[in-house]
Amino acid sequence: MSTIQMTPTVKDTTKLERIGAHSHISGLGISDSLDVSSMSAKTCGLIGQVKARKAMGMVHKLIQQGKIGGRAILIAGPPSTGKTALAMGLAQQLGDDVPFCSLSATEVFSLDISKTEALTQAIRRSMGVRIDEEQEIMEGEVVEIQIDTHGGAKGGKSGRLTLCTTDMETIYDLGTKMIERLTQERISAGDVIRIDKATGKVTKLGRSVSRSRDYDAMGSDTRFVACPEGELQKRSEITHTVSLHEIDVINSRQQGFMALFAGDTGEIAETIREQIDQKVAEWRSEGRAKLIPGVLFIDEVHMLDMDCFSFLNRALESEMCPIVILATNRGQSIIRGTNYTSPHGVPLDLLDRLLIIPTAPYTQLELKEILQVRCTEEQVDMTSEALELLSRIASETSLRYAIHMIMTSSLVAKKKKSKEVQLQHIERCHKLFYDVQRSTKYIMEYQNQFLFHELDSAEAILA
Ligand code: ATP
Repeated sequence: MSTIQMTPTVKDTTKLERIGAHSHISGLGISDSLDVSSMSAKTCGLIGQVKARKAMGMVHKLIQQGKIGGRAILIAGPPSTGKTALAMGLAQQLGDDVPFCSLSATEVFSLDISKTEALTQAIRRSMGVRIDEEQEIMEGEVVEIQIDTHGGAKGGKSGRLTLCTTDMETIYDLGTKMIERLTQERISAGDVIRIDKATGKVTKLGRSVSRSRDYDAMGSDTRFVACPEGELQKRSEITHTVSLHEIDVINSRQQGFMALFAGDTGEIAETIREQIDQKVAEWRSEGRAKLIPGVLFIDEVHMLDMDCFSFLNRALESEMCPIVILATNRGQSIIRGTNYTSPHGVPLDLLDRLLIIPTAPYTQLELKEILQVRCTEEQVDMTSEALELLSRIASETSLRYAIHMIMTSSLVAKKKKSKEVQLQHIERCHKLFYDVQRSTKYIMEYQNQFLFHELDSAEAILA
């Protein structure tokens, strides 16, 4: 493979954008100093779970600083305590440039590819490569070029030049001359200079002009401003962020880039991956690309088996590994495919590598706030008495059950031509739909009439 193909600005992160279970969440609601904002319910949709959010806030910082590649975190807690919500909050907070790939452990077994291939693809989906390319300059745009003649402290010149012209020839021609002149004339960053187009002679016009004056003063296409670093922030390059998996797929002769749209990428040869890794390493050493470790979130991690766990254990050692966030609601349980039990159904050697973030059950007040946020998200108006009852139901049954009741009771309210959900609408739905406890009780009462007795009935039919 002589050249590595890329597609422009492809982004493959798994983020929920439709109205779904977590669509009310838009971040972690944590300040830079890791404080939980009192307005967080309104600004990010997350309520309570303060300790876990602070811990996730630290994880966020480490990701931003690129220091967390190859580490793993386990979010562990009872059902409906916001484990997935926290991961979603982190995903939203990371922004579009950091890959976030989310999957449920069972997906690893349901694909047409081997378990380890499914995990490898998920890992490479979560690793971004940020590549800088020269920008095509559009008519009317003010262009900035970074010039560094080197020498730095030894008398060389460096600085940014803003060219107030859209003529490409002039830009390149004068830009080149400018570099030459910088080494001879005493021009420093911040100086406004004019270059005579014909002779290339440099004249100093002044120093440290303000941004607005720069633009006003520059009518001619022969003026330049050597700007102090960071004063005039203008792009001179386009940045693409693609995932390693996307580069693999595009360069896999067997699959081709169309597989990205179909989603069915099949198995990718290890040789392709090695070539890609080598190429990316070259780009990095040339300063053309940066590796962006993203996040791989695996929910229901207790569903993984021993092969997957040992694969993950090894993968975490590699440089090309994202931060892995696992979540489970299991306590002491059997490790899938073995007779051994372990905390969270995760083998002890892997568990030992993980930073564990626990989530705690919510108070009734927090449940009420979460339900309120969900009502807003689902555009349902509810009276305060109805909301009070719903939060009580949530604390006695489960948060998920109560969340489901929002939409169903809103349908009842609509049928009764009421603009808001009232107490009786919640009561009606509570009678219509069972929660787990009532369903279990019902089964105990009527178990003889259920289909698990079909063996008996089949025998009866045969007889
Ligand atoms: P399970 O163990 O069953 O997978 P979980 O801990 O992952 O549960 P979630 O799916 O995150 O729980 O939470 C259930 C619902 O409650 C989701 O709709 C989620 O967005 C919402 N939710 C949970 N915690 C919070 C919170 N702190 N703030 C706002 N919404 C929350």
